[in-house]
Amino acid sequence: LSREAETVLDRIDEEDVDFLRLQFTDILGTVKNVSVPADQAEKAFAEGIYFDGSSIDGFVRIQESDMRLEPDPSTFAVLPWRNNGRVTSARLICDVIDTTSGEPFSGDPRRVLKNAIDRAHEMGYKINAGPEPEFFLFQEDEDGTATTETHDRGGYFDMAPKDLAQDVRSDIVYGLDEMGFEVEASHHEVAEGQHEIDFKYEDALTTADNIATFRVAVRALAAQHDLHATFMPKPIPRINGSGMHTHLSLFTEDGENVFHDDDDEFNLSAIAKKFLAGILEHAPALTAVCNPTVNSYKRLVPGYEAPVYIAWSDVNRSALVRKPAARVPAASRIELRSPDPSGNPYLALAAMIQAGLDGIENDLDCPDPVRENIYEFDEEKREEYGIETLPANLGEAVDALEADEVVMDALGPHTSEKFVEAKRQEFQDYLVDVSQWEIDRYLETF
Ligand code: GLU
Ligand code: MG
Ligand code: MG
Repeated sequence: LSREAETVLDRIDEEDVDFLRLQFTDILGTVKNVSVPADQAEKAFAEGIYFDGSSIDGFVRIQESDMRLEPDPSTFAVLPWRNNGRVTSARLICDVIDTTSGEPFSGDPRRVLKNAIDRAHEMGYKINAGPEPEFFLFQEDEDGTATTETHDRGGYFDMAPKDLAQDVRSDIVYGLDEMGFEVEASHHEVAEGQHEIDFKYEDALTTADNIATFRVAVRALAAQHDLHATFMPKPIPRINGSGMHTHLSLFTEDGENVFHDDDDEFNLSAIAKKFLAGILEHAPALTAVCNPTVNSYKRLVPGYEAPVYIAWSDVNRSALVRKPAARVPAASRIELRSPDPSGNPYLALAAMIQAGLDGIENDLDCPDPVRENIYEFDEEKREEYGIETLPANLGEAVDALEADEVVMDALGPHTSEKFVEAKRQEFQDYLVDVSQWEIDRYLETF
């Protein structure tokens, strides 16, 4: 076994871990796990754990369904919540191996992200990513079913007693801390019942692992207070939805931030601007991956601090990409504001990275920043500035994805095909449904 794996075995002993949860995600970003007794850890590291991939969304057909999980020892974490007060579980995030070929399974979202990271590496870059996930806390009814009743009436950066969720949020932050997260800030967001917890940026793979873990941990920790945490992008109409702004920067292997330029007006290097241009160029297709639910598009409307228009800015928050002020060169980065927390973090980061790298490789030109509030532009003014609009719904987004070779390639042949198929079906299901809004609007009128 590797030294790292040996260290994990020691920690399993020291911390009296009873069960290991071997985790991976399906194509939709849902965390799946197989639980094995802790005494199987050595075997799991040595041989992997076999499972049937045919029942995992977007994986494989029945006749080729044998998969193997290979735990990544660097992801070991004891879970800070207990199943029944006694059992201690730890998790390990796994790579998925195709047992027929013995190669990494190309449909494993973690593999898709590693491909993007490898490409950056070949170009001489390391990618850092920092997410800002937002979520709502809702009350549960007597049966423990989630409602959309918020649990407080606080607003942006409010303090207790209005921010009743402060205790819950502290608990979540302590829990995350125990799992090795470095939480940088947590605060009440603009909408009632809405919160944000920011954790430190890391290399892209660690960040994707962290986002996947974060969603599971926040839900589990909120449930201990009989609250339901949701990462659904727009649970309540006509107030702010939940986004997951994603900060990105490229570093050299020796830790120099290649996005920074002291002499540039925006402190952005030529490389950073090409990367940014790639993101803008592929923005419509990226939307399908970063905003993959029907509900995502209820958030991407004007007026709620979520982006709608494809432009960047160093000052305003109505743009798709923002250049945040950086106190030190290492902090020069761009912030993509469209992603929401319902996406598969591995696929979303892979797509963003590949779009940006395409901008560098093809020497794309970065447009000028837009410093006015774009929500207030009319169509004519948008045309004059050459500002395009993000896809208006999941159907349009999937069309844009299919038409974009770079983002399709970012997902790879297996995952792009399965993803498009699943999302077309999801949009079709939505189109044939009749919503409460329609009943309210039409039932008595016609
Ligand atoms: N909740 C907003 C969104 O939907 C973002 C608010 C913020 O600037 O943090 O993206
Ligand atoms: Mg926020
Ligand atoms: Mg932000």
